[in-house]
Amino acid sequence: MYKIGLTGGIGSGKSRVADLLAEWGAAIIDTDVIAHDLTAPGGAAIEPISQLFGPDVIAATGALDRQAMRDLVFESPEARQQLEALLHPMIGAVTKQRASLARGCYLVYVVPLLVESGHWRDRVDRICVVDCDIETQFKRVQARSGLTREAITRIINAQVPRETRLAAADDVIINDGTTGADELVRRTRVLHDGWCVQARQGCSPS
Ligand code: ADP
Repeated sequence: MYKIGLTGGIGSGKSRVADLLAEWGAAIIDTDVIAHDLTAPGGAAIEPISQLFGPDVIAATGALDRQAMRDLVFESPEARQQLEALLHPMIGAVTKQRASLARGCYLVYVVPLLVESGHWRDRVDRICVVDCDIETQFKRVQARSGLTREAITRIINAQVPRETRLAAADDVIINDGTTGADELVRRTRVLHDGWCVQARQGCSPS
């Protein structure tokens, strides 16, 4: 299947773009959704996380206590490494399994840390970056999650800078503070139409 890696900073609009592509017939695999599933109540990662970090990082619902975990990995780079070493192979295995079952005109991997993780370049035909300025990221994430500016800053600082992400892109969708909903649909549609053609031709364009 023809494969797109879709990425962008937090709040850039990746999920919105992915929803549009799904509506138009693309298969979507979102690694954030997989991570969420693994750390939801009864998720396969809950027990090993609890064993590694203790019961304080598991909420009463049985899900991962995201805030507690965020605080822990912020304090301790070692804890971050341990969490990543645990979760990444699990996410990788589920991603592979879902990809083997995927049906659609092409396949989109939504990967927030695609550029950071390095190994995606060889796995996809094109990398598409959804891009927006930092102020817009703050506004959107604050409105969506109610996180403090400090917490959002931490997340943004843990991601590669905008320029680095853009340098890795084959395609860019600008979705900044001036981009209206219709304009985002139009920009996304132009790329979708092109990817459909490439998928049909079965080629890997340069
Ligand atoms: P990401 O998945 O990259 O974190 P989302 O797609 O969830 O970002 O978008 C973040 C928030 O901003 C969501 O609430 C979304 O509806 C909103 N949003 C995204 N793009 C636009 C836009 N062009 N205009 C208005 N709101 C937007």
